[in-house]
Amino acid sequence: MNEIKTKVLVVEDEEPIRRFITLNLSAAGYEIGEADTGEKALAMLGSFRPEVIVLDLMLPGIDGFEVCRQVREKMPETFVIMLTAKGQDTDKIVGLELGADDYMVKPFNPVELTARVKAMLRRRTRFRADRDVLTCDDLLLDLSANKFFKNHHEIELTPTEFALLKMFLENQGRALERNEMLNAIWGENYYGEPKTLDVHIRRLREKLEDNPSEPEYIKTVWGRGYRWQPGVRGRTP
Ligand code: CA
Repeated sequence: MNEIKTKVLVVEDEEPIRRFITLNLSAAGYEIGEADTGEKALAMLGSFRPEVIVLDLMLPGIDGFEVCRQVREKMPETFVIMLTAKGQDTDKIVGLELGADDYMVKPFNPVELTARVKAMLRRRTRFRADRDVLTCDDLLLDLSANKFFKNHHEIELTPTEFALLKMFLENQGRALERNEMLNAIWGENYYGEPKTLDVHIRRLREKLEDNPSEPEYIKTVWGRGYRWQPGVRGRTP
């Protein structure tokens, strides 16, 4: 069976350090690409397509900062772990927010580096799952985390409100029939009080509308049900 290995690009001009790193990462099961200059690293992005880049900051020619900047532009999903020499202002590096995901100060234990790479890849898996979101203007419904945000503030929703909002955001602009909503949220053949729907809608409006008595998003469609008005503010989450 051909196992697909995760690709790690090691960019380091000092050969002994590069070898030290690559030996450890190979032993951990990663497929390794090597570059001893920033130029070579950038040239390898498209062909090698690394998922992680171990990037020395001080390189001849194009330095690690510039490589990192270009990686962020061209391959934003790639993880970058920056290597810095002792004495360099690491706090400043982090503060610069140059887009590195992590950094290590030389001299470091390559076993520790391998552990960091593994941790990053675990985080990536979560990060991708977290992208399962529905949005409208500054409203964001995070389906994986089961959270709702309005203008970056989390607002608690009950599971029913959550399900209703999900249905609205998946059907923006479309009139949803009362029965359709009751069946979708409370199950087929719902025999309960249909007013239940209106109560939940009212609560949902109170939570997400600026003015619940004059809702901008959840519109009443008389005699039928409700409709979500998409993008009224033009703001993004
Ligand atoms: Ca160097």
